[in-house]
This record gives sequence, structure tokens and C-alpha cells, in this order.
Amino acid sequence: MKKIIVTGAGGFIGHHLVSSLKSKGNFVIGVDQKWPEFEDTKANRFIIHDIRVPSQEWEDLFQGIDEVWALAADMGGMGFISKNHAAIMRDNVLINIHTLEAARKAKVKKYLYTSSACIYPDYLQTQEDASPLAEAQAYPANPAEGYGWEKLYTEMMCQHYHEEYGIDMRIVRFHNIYGPLGTWQGGREKAPAALCRKVAQAVKDKKDYIEIWGDGLQARTFCYIDDCIKGLELIMASTYTGPLNLGRDEVITINRLAELVMDITGVSLKKVYVAGPQGVRGRNSNNALLKETIGWSPEIDIETGLKLTYQWIEKQI
Ligand code: NAD
Repeated sequence: MKKIIVTGAGGFIGHHLVSSLKSKGNFVIGVDQKWPEFEDTKANRFIIHDIRVPSQEWEDLFQGIDEVWALAADMGGMGFISKNHAAIMRDNVLINIHTLEAARKAKVKKYLYTSSACIYPDYLQTQEDASPLAEAQAYPANPAEGYGWEKLYTEMMCQHYHEEYGIDMRIVRFHNIYGPLGTWQGGREKAPAALCRKVAQAVKDKKDYIEIWGDGLQARTFCYIDDCIKGLELIMASTYTGPLNLGRDEVITINRLAELVMDITGVSLKKVYVAGPQGVRGRNSNNALLKETIGWSPEIDIETGLKLTYQWIEKQI
């Protein structure tokens, strides 16, 4: 049995991760500033703590811990991260420094940091059919404002903690993770959850349209939560200490994503295009290094994952 800390355990991916690590017989301590929103935690202990604030209790928690999975972050979808650069950079730098330092002082052996595809340079993502982003293409750096810069800075800090303090490091770059038990309203939701909510709400209110930010031609890949958790566990079990993509490599536009959601319900709604933050034009994940390292890449197709997500969001509404 390993003793594990998961930060961000009250959030979408952290909550799913805690359930999975616990089911495999580990002793799991979840930390977050809030409880999981939609279901009770399966953690052996769950500690409510604001990681931005340093404390002796926080550092003591890391004594005797085998692994840290660092997922806590001030984050959200495009609507949130495009308007909160200062808060995101401040909060996440503090969270990550305090977590790394507590792990270093307690001599924790293994550490996994969750980065993002937002670290990739804007200049490689100007076309809808942008070529898949390989890990080495992060430099010369020009990541997304605020959120992307902080993620890249922390990746670098993790690499130095590995080199100079000997922490066995894993760095994972997520590409749009989605699924049930994730934020679906309130401003921090991401595109798949937002579109599921808009369609389900339109059906309920008998409206014949949904709103789309921009022209809907911006393109992304989407990775279902079960694949994300499987990938995280395989990466942690590997020996690779550099950054790795974790995402699907099937690109679809936001328009197509909206149509797939409508197909699930059997409705056809008009798409009304409105001004809104869109992020880069096109982004795809190059999974060659991931496959070489763990012998696997995410496989759940968007139709299957979206159906499960829609059904859950429809129930919430
Ligand atoms: P989430 O917002 O659901 O979870 C993050 C959790 O961190 C939240 O529960 C939040 O309360 C907690 N947190 C924030 N500030 C904190 C603080 N000061 N102290 C303690 N806890 C704090 O997000 P998620 O989708 O589960 O993302 C998990 C990680 O993966 C994050 O680091 C995120 O940046 C990264 N990531 C996610 C995606 C995605 O598609 N979901 C994509 C790229 C990267």
C-alpha cells in the first residue's frame, strides 16, 4: 500500500483520480480548498486547505508520503482563463511552489505535475488543421497568456527539482479532458460541458438555437476522463521524467462538437455565432512519445465519451 497525496482532489480530474487510486488499495489523502461538488470523496482522509497559504501543518502532512499527484490549480475554460491572468499566475505559482517545497523537505520520492497543452506556442496553432504538437515543440516558448506561461514555468521548476533535488518527476500535458462530475456551469466550464449544457437547456426550454463563441471553426481534441486516469497511472508507473502529452489525436471543430451533442438528443438546433474568447485556432496532440513511453494512447472516441457526459449533465439540469 502506497501513501499518496492528491492535490485538487475536490476538482474534476482529482476526484476521479482519488477514486481510482483508492480502489487499487492505496492510502489516499485528498487536499483541496473545497469538497468535491457532485459526489462524496473516496479518500481515506480529505483535508480542506488553501495551498496558497504556507503552514507547518501543510508541510507535516508530507511526512512519510510515497507519491504526490499535484492537480490543484486556479483554472477553467476559455471564458475564465482569458480574463483572470493575474489571479491565475499568482495563485498557481504559490500552489506549485508550496507543494514542491513540502515534497522536497519531506523527501517525497515521486511527484506528478499536471501541465497543459496551453504551454505550446501560439505561432504553431494559427490554422484549424494545425499539425500535432510534439513535446519538444514547446520551445522557443510563446504559450497562452497567464495560464500557459505559469504552467510552462512550473514545468521548468519541476525539471530543476528533479535534477537538483533528485525527485522522481512526471510532467503531464493534458489536452482538453472532459466527462461526468466536471464543472458544467458558472463560468469555469470547458467547451464539451458548456455545449452539453446549452443543448440540454435549449431542449428543456423549447428553444430552437444555441450560442457558439466565435465562428465555431476553432478545432481541438478531447480526451475522456477514464482515458485520462488510465494515462496518468501508466505515466506515473513509467520511468520517463520529461513532459508528455496526454490527449486524443482526433481533431474536431467546435461546430462538429455541437452537432455531435445534438445527435445524442436527436434535435437539430440553429447555431447562433456570438463574440467570445476562442483561444488558438487549431490544436492537436502528437502522441508518438506517449505511445513509445507507455505503449498506449487514449482510445475512447468522442461519440462515446460525449454521450456519457451529456447524460450526466442532462440529469444535473
Ligand atoms: P478543477 O478546477 O476541477 O480542479 C482543480 C482543483 O484545484 C479545484 O477543486 C480547486 O478548488 C483546487 N484549488 C484551486 N486553488 C486551490 C488552492 N489555493 N488550494 C487548494 N486547492 C485549490 O480542474 P481539473 O479539470 O480537475 O484540472 C486538474 C489539473 O489539470 C489542473 O492543474 C489543471 O490546470 C490541469 N489541466 C486540466 C485540463 C482539463 O481539460 N480539465 C487541461 C489542461 C490542464
